[in-house]
Amino acid sequence: MREKQVLPVVVVGLTAALVAVVALWTLDRVVGPDTATASQSGAGEVIEWKLVTTWPKGLPGLGAAPENFARRVNEASGGRLRIKVFGAGEIVPAFEVFDAVSRGVAEAGHGASYYWKGKIPASVFYTAVPFGMTAQEANGWLHYGGGLELWRELYAPFGVVPFAGGSTGVQMAGWFNIPLNSRVDLEGLKMRIPGLAGEVFDAAGGSAVRIAGGEVYTSMQTGVIDAVEWVGPYNDRTLGLMEVGDYYYYPGWHEPGAMLEIIVNAEALAALPEDLQAIVRVAARATNTDMLDDFTANNSESLQILLTEFDTEVLPLPDDVMDALYESSQVAIQALIDEDPRAKKIAASYFAFAEKVRTYHEISERAYLNGRARLLPPVSLTAASAE
Ligand code: CA
Repeated sequence: MREKQVLPVVVVGLTAALVAVVALWTLDRVVGPDTATASQSGAGEVIEWKLVTTWPKGLPGLGAAPENFARRVNEASGGRLRIKVFGAGEIVPAFEVFDAVSRGVAEAGHGASYYWKGKIPASVFYTAVPFGMTAQEANGWLHYGGGLELWRELYAPFGVVPFAGGSTGVQMAGWFNIPLNSRVDLEGLKMRIPGLAGEVFDAAGGSAVRIAGGEVYTSMQTGVIDAVEWVGPYNDRTLGLMEVGDYYYYPGWHEPGAMLEIIVNAEALAALPEDLQAIVRVAARATNTDMLDDFTANNSESLQILLTEFDTEVLPLPDDVMDALYESSQVAIQALIDEDPRAKKIAASYFAFAEKVRTYHEISERAYLNGRARLLPPVSLTAASAE
C-alpha cells in the first residue's frame, strides 16, 4: 500500500518540477534582454543596449569615445551588459540622437549637448560657452562644482540622464577660405559653427550654418559655406578639411573646452541591477578622461602632419576679430539668460565657478605656461621648422 502511494507522489513531483523548468525557460525567453528589469536580471542574463551617436561611424576621437565606453561596460560587466554602437544615420540621423534616447528607441547616446539647443536652450552650457571654461575647468565644475546636478535637472523632464562623455580640449577657430584681417572680414561669411557660437557669429556679421560632421567637407568643397569649425588638427584631418580650407585659424574662442555627453534613457538605467548602474557610471567617467588624453596626444601629432605634409597655413585670429567675437558673445549669452530661466540658473553656477577658477588658474596654469614659454625656445608653426 505504501509503495503504491509513493509512486503517484513521485510522478506528480517530477511533473511539477518539469513544468517549473519549462515555465522558467519560457519566462527567460519572453523577458529577453531588452525588457529585463532589476528583479529579473539574474547572473547569467545578458542585457543589450543600443547606443546612437552624432558622429559618422568609425570617426577617430569623437567617434572612438562611445566605442570605448561600450567596450568598458562590456568588459567590466563580464558581458552582462552589451552595448552596440551605431553611427549617425544608422538608426537615427545625428540631430535626432537626443529624441531617440528620450523615447527609448535607443537606450543610450553620445554627442554634443548644444545640438539640442533648439529644444533645450540651456544645453549649450554643457558643450561650450564662448570665452568660457577650458576642459580642466569645466570638469571641475561638473564633478565638484554642482554642474552635473544642474545638467541632470535640465534633462530630467525628457527622461534622459546625462554623463560627461569626453572633451576635445581647446579647439581651433576653424578653416577659412579668405584671410581674416579685421572684423569687417566676418561680414556675410557663411560658416558652419553650431551652438551659442553660431548666434555670436551671426551677431558679429557672419552667417552661421548648421551642418553635421559627415557633410562639412562637401559643403566646403562646393562653396555652400566659406568657413568651417569642426574640432582641431586630429579630427579635422580625419575629415580632410585641409584639402578644402585655405587658412587654419586659432584659438577656438567658441569652444575652449568642448565637452561631449553620454546620455542614457532614465528608465533603462533604473532597470539595471545596481552593479551594472555603477559600471555605467564608472565607464562614463573613464571615457570622459580618456577622450581628452586621446585628443591631447593626437592633436599634437596631427598638427605636425598638417604642417609638414600639407603645408597648412596656421594663423592666429587678429585681436580685432577676437574683440568683435567677444563683444557679440556677451550679448548672445545675456540674451540666452534673459529668455530662459533654466539658462539663468545654470549660468549663475557656471560663471561663479568660472570666475573662481580663473583667479586660481592665473597663478597656476597660465603662470606656468607663460613661464615655460619665456624659458623654452619659441614654437614655430611653419613647415620648415616642423620638419
Ligand atoms: Ca567644434
